[in-house]
Amino acid sequence: MLGLKKKNKSSLLSILPEVRGKYLCNEMMSKHTWFGVGGPAEVMYYPEDDDDLSWFLKAKPYNLPICIIGGGSNLLVRDGGIPGVVIKLDSKFYKKWQISEGEITCGAGMRNSQLKKILLENKLGGLEFLTSIPGHLGGAVRTNAGCFGKELKDVLIGATIINGNGEVKNIPAKDLSLSYRHSLFPDDWIITSLTLKVNAQEPEITQKILDEYKQYRMNTQPHNVKTAGSTFKNPEGLRAWELIKKSGCAELEINGAKVSDKHCNFLVNTGNATAADIENLGEEIIKKVKENTSITLEWEVKKMGIAK
Ligand SMILES: Cc1cc2nc3c(=O)[nH]c(=O)nc-3n(C[C@H](O)[C@H](O)[C@H](O)COP(=O)(O)OP(=O)(O)OC[C@H]3O[C@@H](n4cnc5c(N)ncnc54)[C@H](O)[C@@H]3O)c2cc1C
Repeated sequence: MLGLKKKNKSSLLSILPEVRGKYLCNEMMSKHTWFGVGGPAEVMYYPEDDDDLSWFLKAKPYNLPICIIGGGSNLLVRDGGIPGVVIKLDSKFYKKWQISEGEITCGAGMRNSQLKKILLENKLGGLEFLTSIPGHLGGAVRTNAGCFGKELKDVLIGATIINGNGEVKNIPAKDLSLSYRHSLFPDDWIITSLTLKVNAQEPEITQKILDEYKQYRMNTQPHNVKTAGSTFKNPEGLRAWELIKKSGCAELEINGAKVSDKHCNFLVNTGNATAADIENLGEEIIKKVKENTSITLEWEVKKMGIAK
């Protein structure tokens, strides 16, 4: 049976393979991004498991555009939406985890924050920094997520991927070429699970670290707002927020897309801003910072899809 929920049926569906997972037509990406913006994905596909995903990738039309999203916490999806198929790993299969000696293997669809309970209940430590970063573990690999002096590459042992031909491969961490908020592996690789280093640690110590990290974020970053975190990468040896402030951008606003009062490198959708408003605000900041400091800021937020 074609695992299908129809909203407004897309003609694309008629050429997609039958899967055990679920297809959704014209699914609004605004429901899947922390910014709360983004037009429709022509088709969204939730694979049931690796076999289902692998079958889909082998049987799909050769030139079908596909992309993968995680928790949407680092995405700016444009208002015209995403043509083709957007894949999201959200079934139970992608949230499974298993601990063995000094390591934990987790499905890529697991939220980073879910690791808190696992660390505490199993007397483990080493991943506290990761639990404080929004999003899913697959996204954390792609972005080499990091904070509090640690990044994913410091704890990653390896990952399982499925490539564009539907082949499953185990890849050691070094071959994913992770660097500051960046990874260098083929665009058609989908991370489906990953193995991370952990160490034995009393829950009281883990909880203390978690509390410190939480408090730091509460004090320094906006919360309960629509944002995608740091908008721009820190240029080598510099801080993006300082450059933004110095360039007179701290109070910039375009139709409800605004520079956060609490952290200049966070852009916030204060209400009904569109993706175009947020992107235009970001580009305005890049222009002003360039004029004032000669430095070109680079987007950390990933832009996807087409303009309206
Ligand atoms: C309030 C806030 C605070 C934040 N603080 C931090 C921070 O301290 N440090 C930090 O590094 N980031 C931070 N971020 C940014 C964001 O949380 C991270 O970049 C996160 O790792 C993105 O994961 P995600 O699952 O949401 O990925 P998404 O935003 O959905 O996608 C990000 C990229 O990963 C790719 N991707 C997603 N899943 C997979 C997969 N399974 N296989 C292959 N590619 C995949 C997508 O195609 C896309 O290119 C913050 C964001 C917010 C909103």
